[in-house]
Amino acid sequence: MTKKEIKLSVLFCLIFLISACDNVGLKAPSFAYVGAIMGTSFSIKANPLPETVTVKQLQKLIKVRLDTINGKMSTYLKESELSLINNKKTLQKQAISAELFKVLATAKEISQKSKGAFDITVAPLVNLWGFGSDGMRFEAPEASKIQDLLAKTGDQYYVLQKNDLSLQKTQQDLSLDLSALAKGYAVDEVALILEQQGINNYLVEIGGELRLKGHNKQGKKWHIALEKPTINKRELHKVLAITNTAMATSGDYRNFFEQDGKRFSHTIDPRTGSPITHKLASVTVLHASSMVADAWATAFMVLGSEEAYKIAEQERLAAFFIIKKQQGFEELATPLFTEYTRGEK
Ligand code: ADP
Ligand code: MG
Repeated sequence: MTKKEIKLSVLFCLIFLISACDNVGLKAPSFAYVGAIMGTSFSIKANPLPETVTVKQLQKLIKVRLDTINGKMSTYLKESELSLINNKKTLQKQAISAELFKVLATAKEISQKSKGAFDITVAPLVNLWGFGSDGMRFEAPEASKIQDLLAKTGDQYYVLQKNDLSLQKTQQDLSLDLSALAKGYAVDEVALILEQQGINNYLVEIGGELRLKGHNKQGKKWHIALEKPTINKRELHKVLAITNTAMATSGDYRNFFEQDGKRFSHTIDPRTGSPITHKLASVTVLHASSMVADAWATAFMVLGSEEAYKIAEQERLAAFFIIKKQQGFEELATPLFTEYTRGEK
């Protein structure tokens, strides 16, 4: 299996886990839609379906929206708005769509708040390490190549201007990668479509990033499975009963390669130009916005549990860390996470 196929099968398993927790056996949800987008899978459930819209119409609305977002933010589609910007070696201002601007502005904000741990300018390094659109690799690149690219990486190399919705590179080789928050953005946009249709009970999931509202078919909070961050088997770590929130999880245990017993994951530490190496195995963030939760989950994965915990408290974020120990794992939750996940199931 290729890495992408492995990732897909993993995600289908995750969806299975989510479904398995969703009180199976009773009446089927009024609306259920699964498919593939952004190199991963999606799963949407909603109830009840209003009489003003059919299953087919709603599926179409969602699919068109997802394709539009992918057409703007993908680094895999050569003609996407982002790819065209990445390939244009100019220091002139470039006009960009309002939607791309919104995601870039969030990326910049979280880059600054995370002290550069979240950094969408790592695209060339993501590719160098074999986790981007240039294809996979299974060994670490030369140190000099990493240093060359690192020198051209950083949030300061692009300027966003809201009044004319523009982006300006200050370094012409700059290339941007929105993979760490575009899925979350797409989840938010699908949730918006559902709400515009008057649907107030839903679960939207793309590649493991989620947004939940109201209740499931049984009138309970949504039951979401958190995986144990182990590489060779798929086990349940715990089940969260949550609603009216988005949730994103980042981990070093799915998308990676190993060389000489060392694990190289797809999350790049912009301070070193190399994949993260610390003991944090996974982090889950709850936030009203799926895009923000998605970005912070990646940022926290870079920072490691100690630094991430401090920032999570400062920023009043609900975060849950699973940390590798010599034997098994240790959990760490911010007070807000404990508060959100407490109470009635
Ligand atoms: P995870 O769910 O593990 O966080 P995501 O898909 O959200 O995974 O984000 C990982 C992707 O983000 C990588 O494949 C890469 O394209 C990009 N990326 C890697 N390191 C960073 C970083 N430090 N900041 C922003 N994006 C990154
Ligand atoms: Mg992310």
